[in-house]
Amino acid sequence: MSKEFVCIVCPNSCRLTVSEKDDEITVTGNDCKRGIDHGISEYKNPLRMITSTVAILGGTLPRLPVIGTGEIPKTRMNDCLDEIYGVSVSAPIKRGEIIIQNIKDTGVDIVASRSMNKKER
Ligand code: SF4
Repeated sequence: MSKEFVCIVCPNSCRLTVSEKDDEITVTGNDCKRGIDHGISEYKNPLRMITSTVAILGGTLPRLPVIGTGEIPKTRMNDCLDEIYGVSVSAPIKRGEIIIQNIKDTGVDIVASRSMNKKER
């Protein structure tokens, strides 16, 4: 079995082919060693940073940008986004404030990626 990925570690964007045979994984198409680690990681358990927004009551904008404190498995992304979309916070919020702790037991917190003051009346 083999899969193809584009390496996103640097702007070269090498086209990686990851093959598995007899429990041995090989990566080809990489111009450097970092592509091997990336290819194996993408093949076994692809991870992604999560960024989104949550509703904020009384803020200067209707939504607050949020980001994960680490990468989460790509397969858990939709579950996590569902939880994020259901959350509503109240202004003021400080940058880095935890909005959701340990989202979906991934070990990653969702934090505010900017501060937001209360809207002036
Ligand atoms: S394999 Fe190496 S050179 Fe190619 S995109 Fe990945 S990091 Fe860059």
